[in-house]
Amino acid sequence: MSEITFQDLSLAEPIQRALLAKGYTVPSPIQAQAIPVLLEGHDLLACAQTGTGKTAAFALPILDAFARNPRKPFRRGVRCLILTPTRELAVQVTESFKTYGEGLGLKIGMVFGGVSEKPQIKALYGGLDVLVATVGRLLDLKQQGHVDISQVDTFILDEADRMLDMGFIRDIRKIAAAIPQQRQTLLFSATMAPEITELANSLLHHPKEIRIAPQGTTAEKIDQHVCFVKKADKPDLLLKLVQAHQAASSTKELSLIFSRTKHGAKNLAKKLCSAGIEADSLHGNKSQNARQKTLDQYKRGDVRVLVATDVAARGIDVKNITLVINFDLPMESDAYVHRIGRTARAGESGRALSFCSEDEVALLRQVEKLIKRSVPVYPHDWHAAQIEQHHTSGAPAQKPKQGGGGGGNRPPRGGGRQGGGPRRGGSSGGRPQSDRAPQGGFQKAANGQRSNRSRGRS
Ligand code: AMP
Repeated sequence: MSEITFQDLSLAEPIQRALLAKGYTVPSPIQAQAIPVLLEGHDLLACAQTGTGKTAAFALPILDAFARNPRKPFRRGVRCLILTPTRELAVQVTESFKTYGEGLGLKIGMVFGGVSEKPQIKALYGGLDVLVATVGRLLDLKQQGHVDISQVDTFILDEADRMLDMGFIRDIRKIAAAIPQQRQTLLFSATMAPEITELANSLLHHPKEIRIAPQGTTAEKIDQHVCFVKKADKPDLLLKLVQAHQAASSTKELSLIFSRTKHGAKNLAKKLCSAGIEADSLHGNKSQNARQKTLDQYKRGDVRVLVATDVAARGIDVKNITLVINFDLPMESDAYVHRIGRTARAGESGRALSFCSEDEVALLRQVEKLIKRSVPVYPHDWHAAQIEQHHTSGAPAQKPKQGGGGGGNRPPRGGGRQGGGPRRGGSSGGRPQSDRAPQGGFQKAANGQRSNRSRGRS
């Protein structure tokens, strides 16, 4: 097993400088494997877990090509088109391109829905080297003639699984049909569901395949537990856990709570606020600007607790999230992997606690099947032994109805054991043993710098 550095990848000088400024010295496994393949011009199908450094894996070789072969953007034209499922991810990808591409003088822009089209139209007018877009807004602007994608030579689908989940398959096909056949195409997905393979077969040309984290593998450094709890007790338990986390952690550490519904997210944030915890919510009912404002405040640590729905949480890349709570278990187990991947970003460690009420037993079983291990139980004052018993007994369990989660009915009250921590087994309640070696993340080198063991292509 050799360990390569960014210097070994021979990226253009300004990119090397930008990486150094960012403090990146060693490529993550996805970067070590994808960058050489992309520099050679291959199409790529990559199954990479969130937090593995996949953005730089595609951004760096694209920027390198621009650095070596600068071309003047043409009116309303775009050379490299990146599709993302959400605005949040679009912002994050754009920021990464700007950071890594600093000094290259490229025109990098983004378009997404929910905000005025005017500034986007203006930015598109002179042409762009790189455009990061959400699907709907891109099609709107294209139909109005504000963007010309007929000369795109690099096409990237980021978090393709999510785009399919969100029902964008037709729109993706429309966009793909409008760009030249002769192009380099990259498809990144957290999972390799059959629909993804089907999409890849139709869009990619003899792609190289890279699988960094096999389907369902959860980040090694995440301390995962399940809390069996009655639905009505969930708000009390949540409050205790958040209070305990805040008391035990530095002011920089953040918690992220997932609710199944928009309404539930809003209510939970309100309940936490009324209990004296600064919290905000992130969900699809908020305007794009309000979402961005909330996210910025959260990133700065002005608000340490965020309650989010799955769609809104997509693309959140905040380093200091050390606790993720699934107030409701997700309906789709893939979302579990994605949700808990919001903590332990870039090699840090983190904890994920999932609440499981009687009607969520089927969802927990689904998650355990996907991640191929059982999630250890987290003891707490509201522990519902009968739900745990139902879970372990293997007796039939029904999935809850869609939209039935979130919020709880009662405001959290004080009471309960101080701290809300585990009753036995120390603060971690026993770190769950992974059945796999870490595959996609960053490792800290002995000298404190980030390091990664690069692996040969599997
Ligand atoms: P991503 O999977 O692209 O969302 O990246 C996850 C996080 O890892 C981001 O915060 C990146 O800034 C960070 N990151 C990406 N590549 C590296 C690297 N080679 N070394 C250290 N951190 C990195």
